[in-house]
Amino acid sequence: MLYYSTNDFNNKVDLKEAVLSSLASDKGLYMPEVILPVDADILKNIELLSFQELSYEIASKLIGDNIPKSDLRRIINETINFDAPLVYLDDTLASLELWHGESMAFKDFGARFMSRLMNYFIRNENKEYTVLVATSGDTGGAVAAGFYNTPGIRVVILYPSGRVSEIQEKQLTTWGNNITAIEVSGSFDDCQALVKRAFLDTSLDKKLNLSSANSINIARLIPQTFYYFEAYKQIRDNTKPLIFAVPSGNFGNLTAGLIAKKMGLPVDYFVAATNINHVVPDYLTTGTFDPVPSRATISNAMDVGNPSNFTRILSLYGSTWNKIRKDIKGFWLDDDNTKKSMLEAYKKYHYITDPHGAIGFAACNCEDQNTNRVFLETAHPCKFLNVVEETLGITIEIPEKITSIMNKSKTAHQIENVYSELKDFLLTF
Ligand SMILES: *Cc1c(COP(=O)(O)O)cnc(C)c1O
Repeated sequence: MLYYSTNDFNNKVDLKEAVLSSLASDKGLYMPEVILPVDADILKNIELLSFQELSYEIASKLIGDNIPKSDLRRIINETINFDAPLVYLDDTLASLELWHGESMAFKDFGARFMSRLMNYFIRNENKEYTVLVATSGDTGGAVAAGFYNTPGIRVVILYPSGRVSEIQEKQLTTWGNNITAIEVSGSFDDCQALVKRAFLDTSLDKKLNLSSANSINIARLIPQTFYYFEAYKQIRDNTKPLIFAVPSGNFGNLTAGLIAKKMGLPVDYFVAATNINHVVPDYLTTGTFDPVPSRATISNAMDVGNPSNFTRILSLYGSTWNKIRKDIKGFWLDDDNTKKSMLEAYKKYHYITDPHGAIGFAACNCEDQNTNRVFLETAHPCKFLNVVEETLGITIEIPEKITSIMNKSKTAHQIENVYSELKDFLLTF
């Protein structure tokens, strides 16, 4: 199996190259050159398979001969070491809880898998790699947890000072060892621009062997296909059509769902659930994709004005708007309505959603009640503690995983939003 660049189908590389370089030489994103169907038997007897076994079957279709079977099994088993339970709110409405991993956001799937994959690919090399990542909150924590103590890989996380929650900051800054946090006086967009500049700086890349752990990396996407199948396995009545509402920012999660559908998962369609940063819902209505600067919201992991995975969606559908519209419906809420939705889920079902999941929940409520409606609950509500507690007027219990981090002390290197400060630090630390 090779992976092509979304900018040029003839520009293909193997998985090692795709994962280590993140971005193709022509700046396109990598995609599997063919998307093979899962075996019919797997779908038919899906309830007999564990989450790990199911994940292995799907991964082997997307990875092919890039990794020997026994190694792939080990990597899957180390990645999928927590559940993705489908929690029913009523007969046909359910939450797919993707936050049971270490950092309590769905990004744990992608980050854990990527760290194991990189570790496998560089096992015989005696050079060190540096994973550089910009975070608006959840990515950094998942990447830190996923890569902690991985031999041969250093991780540098840039985050915007004062713009991540207290819990998120602790999840970035309390690791030590191979994990370094850089606190930037600036916005998330500034952090991302600094990271982009570092990638384009060939002298830096040569010295540090830079790789990205943002969702442009194909290694993040592959494991995200697994839990769509795992959700299907847990559906009570499979005679009804199935739709997924996916809270979306950079659209990695939704792209993974589209790949799962292309592999044969019987999904009717997906709902792209966003906040006021709704360039993709707009595209679905008008046919025009018009990136704009992002605006801040309470569902801040979705504050993205130019979703990086959109090019992958175009590529999957040969850029045909009508085909894309058949498989994806748009939906968005502003902050007030997001809070209303959180309140409704709590009052009606006694279910606590985080602000991202709440938009997915609202999207499901607009769909036919006679279909299986699943929204992805992408983070544990405690990660957005203040807004959840204020909105619902309750105190929520913070899981042990998080409280243990809150007592640790923060270590971060502070820089201004100036590229030379980042570069000097990277060359000397
Ligand atoms: C990252 C994130 C999203 C957005 O996921 P994409 O794959 O970028 O679309 C949604 N919700 C939460 C909680 C996140 O951390």
